[in-house]
Amino acid sequence: MNQVSARLAALSPSATLAMSQKSSELKAQGIDVINLSVGEPDFNTPDHIKEAAKKAIDNNFSFYSPVPGYPALRKAICEKLKNENNLEYKPEQIVCSNGAKQSVCNVILCLVDKGDEVIVPAPYWVSYIEMVKLAEGTNVIVEAGLDQNFKITPAQLEAAITPKTKALILCSPSNPTGSVYSKEELAGLAKVIAKHPNVFVIADEIYEHINYVGKHESIAQFDEIKDQVVIINGVSKGYAMTGWRLGWIAAPEWIAKACNKLQGQYTSGPSSITQKACEAAYTGDQSCVETMRQAFQRRRDLVVKMAKEISGFKITIPEGAFYLFPECSSYFGKKTAKGQTINNSSDLALYLLEEGHVACVGGDSFGSPNCIRMSYATSDEKLVEAFNRMKKALDALK
Ligand code: PMP
Ligand code: GLU
Repeated sequence: MNQVSARLAALSPSATLAMSQKSSELKAQGIDVINLSVGEPDFNTPDHIKEAAKKAIDNNFSFYSPVPGYPALRKAICEKLKNENNLEYKPEQIVCSNGAKQSVCNVILCLVDKGDEVIVPAPYWVSYIEMVKLAEGTNVIVEAGLDQNFKITPAQLEAAITPKTKALILCSPSNPTGSVYSKEELAGLAKVIAKHPNVFVIADEIYEHINYVGKHESIAQFDEIKDQVVIINGVSKGYAMTGWRLGWIAAPEWIAKACNKLQGQYTSGPSSITQKACEAAYTGDQSCVETMRQAFQRRRDLVVKMAKEISGFKITIPEGAFYLFPECSSYFGKKTAKGQTINNSSDLALYLLEEGHVACVGGDSFGSPNCIRMSYATSDEKLVEAFNRMKKALDALK
């Protein structure tokens, strides 16, 4: 008999990973599926980073590392924060984990008690609300629709804060929308946060390097709230290192200490080899980051052009990350050639997979049931083919 805990029973599986798995299964059956579901760069990890990992193996970096990561890596992260973001952090404020996913979860588990409220702007990345549920916190969803470029306003934030609010999760550049908060917009939110010293900002900046509008802006730059901000970042997206599993936080020291304690009891420090590779990523030549950013920007332009030719899509122009998040509700209520009705974006994603062999993720899992997410972190040829197939399948709906 299935006796999983109530906590686990209440948890939803990750929709992004589930759709990607489904697409791999179809591919294994010989079906030519184009996978736009999972968000990961299609580039190989740059050679100098791979070399550092090989050297680490030869040099016997095979022992447990300190739980929050090697001092040299944490120092390299502090230097990156100083040089790229003009932010001062000490190595004691950095905790490295097995991917930014674990970093976010650590921070939520360290801050949130049962019944505490966490403000999550929608559209949101699928895992945030599930992590809050794991911590027995309460998600307070603040809607930011296409009309406001999927970004919340200071007035919305103010209205959502109650005496029970513990944190706000802010993702910029955003997964799933590609929206980027400007410095002025962040200043407006920071002003509200400053009035509430017991509210913390979990600032997910994992897409920092994939930005098409200029320099990355962190909400931690506003001195009056710096002690209330936890930066989440890592190497998965900017350095094409999703499988290496390394993310980190830059936080007030007491939060870093708490994450260290938590991590010391359930995973320990991340892989020693990965850490040496990441040190090379942060201290080595940064031109690979810019080369990949430019490729993503070119693909952004390409998919925007093609999406505009699909009459039922309404889009914003993504300013960062590698996702397009079209509003697709004009297709709801229409029928497929087989007579099935498309009722929502999950139905539409399933239809596009079955009919067009293109895998996307329905917006429901991101808190935006009228939208659908497609990742454009794949080759130009595959993107062109995917959009041709989607257009054909969507035009066939009656
Ligand atoms: N935050 C966001 C917004 C993401 O899209 C991802 C992608 N998985 C993560 C965190 C986690 O990244 P990582 O691969 O470092 O765990
Ligand atoms: N963050 C990526 C995505 O949203 C990777 C999958 C995941 O970890 O959810 O597709």
